[in-house]
Amino acid sequence: MSAPILESVLTCPKCGFAKAESMPTDACQFYYECTRCGALLRPNPGDCCVFCSFGSVKCPPMQAKRR
Ligand SMILES: [Zn+2]
Repeated sequence: MSAPILESVLTCPKCGFAKAESMPTDACQFYYECTRCGALLRPNPGDCCVFCSFGSVKCPPMQAKRR
């Protein structure tokens, strides 16, 4: 079992701005505010958090589930 990746690059769907953010291992982040345009991002239907929808890496709980 490999350790989860704790950093994900979030890309804003509105302005395309990408920023590396660290992910908490014990919680899912539901909201994320773009630091450039201020857009409030929410997960797509079926995704548990913004990292699953807009991040380069899915959140740690999803990484653990995927085999
Ligand atoms: Zn933005």
